[in-house]
Amino acid sequence: MTTAEIKEMATEYIINTYGDRSLAFVKGEGPYLWDADGKKYLDFLGGLAVNGLGHCHPKVVAAIREQAGKLLHTSNLYYIQPQAELAKLLIDNSDMDQSFFCNSGAEANEAAIKLARKYAKDSGRTDAYEIITMENSFHGRTMATITATAQTKYHVGFEPMLEGFKYVPFDDLEATEAAISEKTCAILVEPIQSEGGVNIPTDGYLQGLRDLCDTHNLLLIFDEVQTAMGRLGTFFGYQGYGVVPDVITMAKALGSGVPIGAMLAKRHIAESFVPGTHAATFGGNPLVTAAAATTVRTILEENLAVNAVKMGNYLAGGLMELKGKYPIKEVRGKGLLCGLVMEVDAKPLAAKCIENGLVTICTNDYILRFLPPLNINAGHVEEAVNIVEKSMSEIF
Ligand SMILES: *Cc1c(COP(=O)(O)O)cnc(C)c1O
Repeated sequence: MTTAEIKEMATEYIINTYGDRSLAFVKGEGPYLWDADGKKYLDFLGGLAVNGLGHCHPKVVAAIREQAGKLLHTSNLYYIQPQAELAKLLIDNSDMDQSFFCNSGAEANEAAIKLARKYAKDSGRTDAYEIITMENSFHGRTMATITATAQTKYHVGFEPMLEGFKYVPFDDLEATEAAISEKTCAILVEPIQSEGGVNIPTDGYLQGLRDLCDTHNLLLIFDEVQTAMGRLGTFFGYQGYGVVPDVITMAKALGSGVPIGAMLAKRHIAESFVPGTHAATFGGNPLVTAAAATTVRTILEENLAVNAVKMGNYLAGGLMELKGKYPIKEVRGKGLLCGLVMEVDAKPLAAKCIENGLVTICTNDYILRFLPPLNINAGHVEEAVNIVEKSMSEIF
């Protein structure tokens, strides 16, 4: 099928929650994608931080093929070997003790929200159910997670929101402290806000949240759906800040593209989830956990977090060099989560980049956001910067 044919069929039969789109990709290899009309692209969006190993990594493809020929699904009524192996890998590489598996980032956050409320009750704080979340956050699209997401654009039309969430500005410890009451049970925060505009906290912010949680007996939950799996230069983003949360949620790059999410927690907290309190039919099934275990092993074996720092610095440096010539405000980010902040609307630039064969995304109107695979090399970075420069020269 051509792009036009796919588009026509999709427009007719798929509910239009994603808007009008111009591309349909049909093949991928490493950091490259091909559309239905045969055009090749360099993918510096990585399926929104999902394709950490690029497209169709041979080890992941082999793991999926092997598991698909053995066993796809049994249910969590039974033990699942790859799920146990994946859990051990995640725990061995974090400060957490136990895992729960689900199918997405939103579900991982749902699990964390439920666990925080349950843990408060189990600890005798029966009236503590409120969770403090940050302005410009993003936690998912279920009712609880849009409520946790403190951006009204995600709420409009879906009211009433869930009870028990309080919003404060990101990177503002004073406001956070002022929002804490006897009703508070947890603080939920992304170590870096990606969807919210690549917002990097000032030094000491995450530690400050940790201290507030310790003082007031609250859980610190890090939403690492986008920042885990090496992207920021450490396997989990929190490890680069030296601040250990009580609960971590993750998804996106965990499965290299198969749908999987996870919540990790300290043992004494995890113990509040007893049999019957939470579940997911597909959660951590043999297929997705085989893919995820291979993804985690590959990221660790190939030292891709280290590569993310090197390539992230190289990318940021290359983009900064364009600053004198074009209306660029700043380049910010950490590892391979990179935001090119423009002085002007960045949407035409994102479109021009795609036209020139580079996939990125415009975030918050002014930011061109890059979330490339972690295993890119200097040549790929140069290719991306060249396309950005060419696209800028054609617009400005
Ligand atoms: C993408 C994202 C989510 C939601 O994940 P889904 O898999 O789309 O439900 C939650 N939190 C953060 C930080 C994200 O980037």
